[in-house]
Amino acid sequence: MLSKKYTALRWIFLSVSIATMLWITYMNFQYVDKVRNANQEAFTEKKKEQVREFVSQVRTKFISVPRSIWAIDPEVIKTSVDKNGMLPNELNLLIADILSDSLYSEAFFTTSSLSPCETKSAIWKFDLNTKSFFLTHTYPELVCDGLNLAQTRMKVLMEDYRWNTKTTFDTHRSMNIALMYPPDKKVIGYLTLVIDSDFLVHSYLRNEIERLFGTDSEENEVSVWINDWVKEKVLYTNNTQMPLDFRKVQITERFPGMLDNWNVLTYVHEPKNQHLIEYETGKNLIIISLSFFLLLGSLLFIIYSAKKEQEISKRQSEFLSNVTHELKTPLAVIQAAGENLKDRRVKNEDRVATYGRHIYDEALRLKTMIEKLLDIARSDANLTQAHQEKLNPNSVLQTVLNREMPLLQSKGFEVQTQFETSEFYISIDRGHFETILSNLIENSVKYSRDRFFLLITTKIESNKVYIMVQDQGIGIPKSALNHIFEKFYRVEDTLTAQTKGHGLGLSIVKHLTELNNGIISVESTYMKGTTFTLEFPLIDIKMNQQKKLNKELTDTTYAKQFTESVL
Ligand code: ADP
Repeated sequence: MLSKKYTALRWIFLSVSIATMLWITYMNFQYVDKVRNANQEAFTEKKKEQVREFVSQVRTKFISVPRSIWAIDPEVIKTSVDKNGMLPNELNLLIADILSDSLYSEAFFTTSSLSPCETKSAIWKFDLNTKSFFLTHTYPELVCDGLNLAQTRMKVLMEDYRWNTKTTFDTHRSMNIALMYPPDKKVIGYLTLVIDSDFLVHSYLRNEIERLFGTDSEENEVSVWINDWVKEKVLYTNNTQMPLDFRKVQITERFPGMLDNWNVLTYVHEPKNQHLIEYETGKNLIIISLSFFLLLGSLLFIIYSAKKEQEISKRQSEFLSNVTHELKTPLAVIQAAGENLKDRRVKNEDRVATYGRHIYDEALRLKTMIEKLLDIARSDANLTQAHQEKLNPNSVLQTVLNREMPLLQSKGFEVQTQFETSEFYISIDRGHFETILSNLIENSVKYSRDRFFLLITTKIESNKVYIMVQDQGIGIPKSALNHIFEKFYRVEDTLTAQTKGHGLGLSIVKHLTELNNGIISVESTYMKGTTFTLEFPLIDIKMNQQKKLNKELTDTTYAKQFTESVL
C-alpha cells in the first residue's frame, strides 16, 4: 500500500519536473526569440533615424546657401540693384564661394523688373574669375524654367512673406532664390543656381550614403536606393548585388521641398551581432536541452534503481521466509528422528539405519544451506579470498563429476565429456573452482525434466580456457537471462517453482569466477537447454601427442564408464 503511494508520488514528481523543465525550455525559447526581435527592431529603428538624419543633412546642405545670404542686409542689395542693376560686391563674393562647391555649376541673376526669358533678352551670368556678373544671351533653358517657377511661387506668397529670401527648387535641376526687400514686400531679383545633378548623385549623395551605410564590398547593414519615381529609375544604390524590390523596402524618405521626384528607399539587413546572439542562443538551448535530458535521465534512473531495490528487498524477504522454512524442516526431521532413537522407540535395526540416514541427509542439507549462506555473506562483505594455484581443469572436473555422479545417476543422467587433450593449466582457487562446477552441475540436475543429459566440454582458444556445462533441461526464458546472476533471483515460472532454491547459487558462481579472473556467460533456449561457459586465462600448456591422437577415445559416455568401474 505504502509502496504504491510512493510509486504514485514518484511519478507525480517526475511528471511535474518534466513539465517544469519543458516550461523553462519553452520560456527560454520565447525569451531568446524576443531578444532577437528586440535587437532587430532596435537596430532597424537606429538605422531609420540615420536615414532621417541623412535626408535632413542633404536639406541643410542646400538650405545653407540662402541662409548665408541672410547675413547680407537687404537694404544693401536693394540699393546696389536699384543703382546699377547689379548685386553688391559682398554678395558676389558669397556667390563665388557658393560656386566653389561642385554641387552648383553656374549662377544667374535677374532683377524682378525684367523678364529676359519672355523677351529673349540678355541675362546676368556669374563669372568665377572676375567674381562678378556679366550679361549674356547664352543661357540654358532650365534657367528660365527655374525663374518661372520662382516668379509664380512669389506671386502667391508675396502678400504675407516677411523673410529676406525664398528658395524654390526646380526638382534637381536648379535652386532659385528670390532676394526680398521685406519693408516693401517686394522681390529685388532672382538668383538661379544650376545644380550639377551628376555630381549631386554620384559624388555628394554617394559619398554620404557610403560613409553612413557602407558599400556592397563591405556587406553593408543598410541598402539604400536613390530612386527617381517619375522616371522609375534607380539613380544610385550602395548595394548593386540587391535589386530594388519595393516589397522589401522598410523605410521611404523624401527630400522635403527639394529634389521633388526623388526618394530614398532603404532596406535594413540583419544586424551583424544577430549571428552572435543566435550562436549564444543556440549554445544556451543546447545546454538547456542537455541538462533537461540529464535531469530526465537521472529521474528515470532514480525511479529504476528504487524499483530495483524494491525488488531486491522483496526477494530478500521471500528468501528469509524460505530460509527459515528450509532450516526448520531438516531440523524438525533431525529432532524427531533423534528423539525416537534417544527414547529407544525404534528397535528394528533397519529402521534405526533409516533414521540414521534421515539424520545424515538432513544434516547434509543443512550444511550445504549454511555453506551457501556463508558464501553469500562473505562475498557481500568482500571477505572471500582466492588462494589460486596452478590446476588442470580436466582433473578437477573429473573429481567433481565423480562426487556428483551418485546424484546424476539417481536421476538417470547421460553424462558426456569432451575434454581438451593437451595438459593445460589455469590459476584458480581449488575450492572455488569445485563450488562453481558443482553448482552448475547441480543446476543442470535441478532444471532438467524430460531429457537428462549433461555434456561437459573443455577447450583452448587463443590463450583462453573455456569450460562448458551444457544440459537439455527446461532452459531459461530470454527475459530472465540478464537476471539469473543476481542475488535471490529465480525465474518465475511453474517449472522453476517445482524445484527448491533460493536464487543464490549463480550469484556465488559469478562472484567466485570473477574473483579468479574468469568470466561466466550463459546461452539458453527455453524448453531446449542451457549452456554455461566459463572462461579463464590459460597459464601453461604441455602438448600431449598421445592424448591428442586418442581424442575420440576420451569423448566418452562418462557415466557408463564410471558406473562400471565403481560397481
Ligand atoms: P536456485 O537454483 O537456488 O534458484 P541459482 O542462482 O542457482 O538459484 O539460479 C537462479 C535461477 O536460474 C534459477 O532459479 C533458475 O530459474 C535458473 N537456472 C539456473 N541454472 C539453470 C539451468 N541449468 N537450467 C535452467 N534454469 C536454470
